[in-house]
Amino acid sequence: MFIARRFFSVSRLLSSKVAVIGAGPSGFYTSLNLLRDKDPDLQVDMFEKNPCPFGLVRYGVAPDHPEVKNCQDRFQDTREDARFQYFGNVSIGSDLKLKELYDNYDAVVYAYGSSLENKLGIPGEEDHPAIINSRAFVGWYNGDPEYKDLDPPLDKVKSVVIIGNGNVAIDLARVLLAPINDHWKGTDITDHALAMLNLSTVNKVTIVARRGFLESKFTNKEFKELLELYKEGVHFGGWPEQKFATLNDMTLGRVDKRRLSLVNKYIGIASQQNEDSGSKEWFLDYLKSPIGFKVDPENSELLREIIFRESSITIEKIEGQDHKYKYKSKIEPTNEFSSIECQLVIPSIGYKCKPLAEFKELGIPFDDKRGVIPNVDGQVQGKEDSYCVGWIANGSRGNINSAVMTSALLADIIQEGLKSSNKEGRSVIESLLTERKVQVVNWEDWMKIEQYERTLGEQKGKIMDKVTDYNRMLEICKENLS
Ligand SMILES: Cc1cc2nc3c(=O)[nH]c(=O)nc-3n(C[C@H](O)[C@H](O)[C@H](O)COP(=O)(O)OP(=O)(O)OC[C@H]3O[C@@H](n4cnc5c(N)ncnc54)[C@H](O)[C@@H]3O)c2cc1C
Repeated sequence: MFIARRFFSVSRLLSSKVAVIGAGPSGFYTSLNLLRDKDPDLQVDMFEKNPCPFGLVRYGVAPDHPEVKNCQDRFQDTREDARFQYFGNVSIGSDLKLKELYDNYDAVVYAYGSSLENKLGIPGEEDHPAIINSRAFVGWYNGDPEYKDLDPPLDKVKSVVIIGNGNVAIDLARVLLAPINDHWKGTDITDHALAMLNLSTVNKVTIVARRGFLESKFTNKEFKELLELYKEGVHFGGWPEQKFATLNDMTLGRVDKRRLSLVNKYIGIASQQNEDSGSKEWFLDYLKSPIGFKVDPENSELLREIIFRESSITIEKIEGQDHKYKYKSKIEPTNEFSSIECQLVIPSIGYKCKPLAEFKELGIPFDDKRGVIPNVDGQVQGKEDSYCVGWIANGSRGNINSAVMTSALLADIIQEGLKSSNKEGRSVIESLLTERKVQVVNWEDWMKIEQYERTLGEQKGKIMDKVTDYNRMLEICKENLS
């Protein structure tokens, strides 16, 4: 049975050509899974707008999480396979039209992630230099060329408020507070970020969420990592315990119970520290919606405070369909207001995906509200030859492990649906790009850039020293490096 099914699948794959848009983890894991099929005529071509691959693994994941970035090594496996080709520095929508992919490939996989960030929606948010979105801040310390000149004024700031409490907020707090020398030594954090963090006067970070404790978005692993920084002189200062007093009497699920016990344990540890054992503190706060901010009258580049509308919470016990009891929070805005003194605000309320320009014309659906391509298990709704995976398929949540799982399932679905055809695939695409004088970065070129970054890093005693200029990357591809 297995042999017959396998033969059927392989025969349908003859001369099948797949275009993958985006070289983040979702695009790579999907490609690797497709390449597991041994069909010699399969082509998987990956298009990435940046010269460098890896998406948010390179420009999102925190420098002190090198183990997470190890998936990049796994992605190198694609280069062993001639059926795979990397087209770096090729943006779909500008260097190549989406229609040109449909004309030349049998299937198109959207794996292009998110390129926007959610906004707070408060007046002045877009213009004030001391309101810096997490996307920019993260890009700045991770060497994203778009944000290398951000230069956040950390040398003039004491208190930072982070709005949103997902794992990105936890990363930000760690970056802002962890001691410079020990914590970041050897990592690939950029030199410009390290230089500014060295001058930083930040000693208080407050992570604020609109909803309640049970709705906290961070995972316990990342939360504990931040709590453990007390060993490096960074203390958990507390949370609005009185708002959630009833939680201690509730029979919570495993994850919530663990989260509550972590809070109680580390509050205890903080209370045992003597006053001068550390001067940096961080806090959790809840049930606060930002409505405005006040600018520092003495330095208009900084803030004086951020203002919130308070919400009330009622936690109800409800019986789920599985007959197990769960808690549901009812959160309502009140007429009470509060503020937190701070000089810098970092909104971290999620990234946002957008449709490509030709979607309407080509009949590719897009759900603007959710910021995703509507799909069933990655099969784009109403488009047989189109698939999506990762953040563009599910919204800006999910970690790299979820990309591993969904891409394996998606590769099976793609293989089932793939038809062989006479489409030309990469030969036509290469001619089009040559005609348009696009400097395509292939995998060998990328290896040169990577080698350059590693060599420079070695000289500085770090894993790598990222090139923070795309033009410089393109120059390196042409250089004869020894
Ligand atoms: C700050 C931050 C920290 C994180 N830390 C962790 C962590 O520690 N552990 C973990 O497991 N997960 C972490 N994540 C989540 C993880 O990064 C994502 O789950 C994952 O990167 C999503 O993969 P993706 O392939 O869907 O999108 P992306 O990684 O965003 O990749 C999309 C790629 O598509 C490219 N692209 C976009 N438009 C085009 C176009 N028009 N043409 C061609 N290419 C295009 C982009 O340049 C990008 O390279 C973090 C996320 C963030 C934001």
